[in-house]
Amino acid sequence: MNIIFLGAPGAGKGTQAEIVSEKFAIPTVSTGNIIRAALKNGTEMGLKAKSYIDAGLLVPDDVVIGIIRERLAEDDCKNGFILDGFPRTIPQAEALEEMGVVIDKVVDIDVADEAIVARLSGRRVCKSCGSSYHIDYKKPAVDGVCDVCGGELIQRADDAPETVLNRLHVYHEQTEPLKSYYASKEKLVTVKGQEKVADTTALTLRALEEQA
Ligand code: AMP
Repeated sequence: MNIIFLGAPGAGKGTQAEIVSEKFAIPTVSTGNIIRAALKNGTEMGLKAKSYIDAGLLVPDDVVIGIIRERLAEDDCKNGFILDGFPRTIPQAEALEEMGVVIDKVVDIDVADEAIVARLSGRRVCKSCGSSYHIDYKKPAVDGVCDVCGGELIQRADDAPETVLNRLHVYHEQTEPLKSYYASKEKLVTVKGQEKVADTTALTLRALEEQA
C-alpha cells in the first residue's frame, strides 16, 4: 500500500507514519528527515536547503522532487511506502503522478492551529535517529534519551515559536490545497488528531482499514 500522511507541521503525522510503517512493514519516507540528515552531513543539497528550513519556508519543489524520485526507486519501496511530509505543494503531487506513482490513500491528520503551537513547543526529537517525542504526550522512558537508539533528545531549531507561525502560514497557503486535490480523486481520509497518540493511532488504523 502506498500512503501519504498530510497535516500541519506538528499534527503528529510523523509519529503516525512511524507506527503504521512498523505495522504494515513498509518504509516511511520523510523528506524532512532526509533534508536534516543532508544538513548534518554538510552535503550540497543540505546547504541549499538550510536557509529555507531556518526561515520556516518550503525547500524548492525541484529539490524535494529529486529527493523523492531517488528514494522511491530504492528496493525497500517496492512493496509500498509511507510518505511523511511529501507532497507539500500541488506541483509536488503532480510530479508524483508523472513518476507513475499510484497512491492508495491520503490520511489527513487534522489538528487546530492553537493546539499545533502547543504541540510543537513541547516536541523533542532524537539528534541521532530523528524519532519524535513530546514532553507531555509522548515521553521517553528516560528523560532526554531516545527509546529507539539511546540518542540525545533536542528541540528542533524550526520549532521556535516565530518559525512555527511561519510554517503554519506556509501550510495553509501551499499544502492545505492538497486536501481538495486528493478528495477529488477520492483518496482522502480525515483523522481528527487526539491528545493521546494511541487514540489517534486507533482512528488512523480504522481509516486505513475501512477504505482499503
Ligand atoms: P518536516 O520535518 O516535515 O516538518 O520538514 C522540515 C522542513 O523541511 C520544512 O519546514 C521544509 O523547510 C522542509 N521540507 C520538508 N519536506 C518538504 C517538502 N515536501 N517540500 C518542501 N520543503 C520540505
